[in-house]
Amino acid sequence: MDCLFCKIVEGTIPSNKVLENEQVVVFHDIQPAAPTHVLVIPKKHIASMNEVEGEDFALIGEIHKAAQEAAKQLGIAESGYRLINNCGQDGEQTVHHLHYHVLGGARLGALTGISKSHS
Ligand code: 5GP
Ligand code: ZN
Repeated sequence: MDCLFCKIVEGTIPSNKVLENEQVVVFHDIQPAAPTHVLVIPKKHIASMNEVEGEDFALIGEIHKAAQEAAKQLGIAESGYRLINNCGQDGEQTVHHLHYHVLGGARLGALTGISKSHS
């Protein structure tokens, strides 16, 4: 499958991994939007939050668990962080393999609202 994050899971595209287990991988974002910015992805290809179904909902728990562990490992658990999933066009999802952003290491400000008009 021609999917960037599947290639990161396979190792055919290199990444700076923070942790990995049977179900998920956590790695540093190539274009960090905060001092600490990692991505948590399931090894299984799921295109977006809209495609999560049945047994795969258990993976969401695994993703949260890995995010919690990565935050501890990266030293941002106490200072705090933001866990974000972008879904679809309005969510500005650019990579169509389910992923959660973990952002921290600085005060992130209030959540931003609408940045582009509907077309
Ligand atoms: P989205 O906008 O889909 O929620 O987030 C995709 C994220 O993947 C972006 O923050 C982007 O910087 C990151 N990204 C895109 N290509 C690569 C890559 O090849 N390696 C890594 N580590 N991150 C990537
Ligand atoms: Zn994929």
